[in-house]
Amino acid sequence: MRYSQLFSKTKFEAPADADSINAQFLSQGGFIARQVAGVYNYLPLGLRVLVKIQKIIRDEMNALGAQEVLMPALTQLESYIQTGRQEIDVLFHLEGHGGKFVLNQSHEEVITPLVAQFAFSYRDFPVAVYQIQNKFRNEARARSGVLRGREFNMKDLYSFHANEEDLNAYYEKVQAAYHRIYARLGLGDITLLTYASGGSFSKYSHEFQTLCDIGEDTIYVCEKCKIGINKEIIDDQNACPKCDSKDLVQKKAIEVGNIFKLRTRFSTAFGFTYADEKGERKPVEMGCYGIGPSRVMGTLVEVFHDEKGIIWPESIAPFTAHIVTLGNQPEVLESANELYTQMQNLGVEVMIDDRDESTGKKLNDSDLIGIPWRVVVSARSLKNGGFEVKKRCEKDAKVVDAKTLITMIA
Ligand code: ATP
Ligand code: MG
Repeated sequence: MRYSQLFSKTKFEAPADADSINAQFLSQGGFIARQVAGVYNYLPLGLRVLVKIQKIIRDEMNALGAQEVLMPALTQLESYIQTGRQEIDVLFHLEGHGGKFVLNQSHEEVITPLVAQFAFSYRDFPVAVYQIQNKFRNEARARSGVLRGREFNMKDLYSFHANEEDLNAYYEKVQAAYHRIYARLGLGDITLLTYASGGSFSKYSHEFQTLCDIGEDTIYVCEKCKIGINKEIIDDQNACPKCDSKDLVQKKAIEVGNIFKLRTRFSTAFGFTYADEKGERKPVEMGCYGIGPSRVMGTLVEVFHDEKGIIWPESIAPFTAHIVTLGNQPEVLESANELYTQMQNLGVEVMIDDRDESTGKKLNDSDLIGIPWRVVVSARSLKNGGFEVKKRCEKDAKVVDAKTLITMIA
């Protein structure tokens, strides 16, 4: 991509309403643009990051054998009346031809009757279905940029089982898949499995909490087991569930995922039963498993930045390399363009900042955008033997020839 052609450029100042590092750097860097409180446009750079996060999650869902679908955002209010969730405070209500509607804040009301259309006998279980789609929640306080939105992206997986043992076994497998996802996102070391309230369905649910000082949640961490307990249940569970230690450290964290055993809460509401081996009707057991890719994107910025801007991990950076031309001497432009084509041919995701702008502006912009490898091409670098390469997360640059550069990056 040629930065000169990109319509969403960096902004010199952060928007006045940017209340967090992610809101500030993502807006200033041209990744997102606010529509209204808690609602954002994803611009080309931001969409590339979001899609990479989604791809990692999708890979791991497919590896579990889950099947991807796309459910509607718009649903008849009756479905929520059937589960008794029509009064949920975050539910957006609409009037339309033919009745009352809601915008789904989660999809139990859609997926349960949907799967019930196709699964009747014990032979049809287990079934696991997921989607990656936008959710709508009328959050009282939309804040912290993309961390708490009113429209936000979610991956939601639902599993259906003939009995509780099968649900429990699948739940463990999803937990392991979630750990792999956070590891691939570069958040593995600081994202802890955390015990949280199971609501009316079961004793616990499990959250995945990324340690971060600006996080809304308070958790108590067993540093030996790398397990957290959410403050909301610490009175009932004041020791590590694994090693029983009471040596817990209080920390702030961002909830990046949440998994629940729903048991028969929703299958009962929709009369979803199946026939077992003896032909007897039994209720279907359910689990649900969420991750917010847009919140993950904000979390990555909160965790990986310095005073100049974002420092994307390579697995989800919008591009791998950022070529920056300084000066517009013909040999500079020619070498930079040649390198750009060569990298593209090798499949390296590369952006070239070929604008006629000052050195300061171009280097500041590249720090703000945070692509892992910066490659400066200038009359000086060419005189010194090639390209000045620097990793965003390191301080020192060095000049190398094209061949060395390619082996470093590709
Ligand atoms: P929270 O406790 O933060 O309000 P939740 O427990 O209601 O979230 P779930 O319904 O379990 O969240 O949603 C699954 C995932 O979706 C969360 O773990 C989070 O990553 C993401 N998510 C939830 N609410 C929002 C939001 N308002 N904006 C962005 N992402 C969200
Ligand atoms: Mg929660």
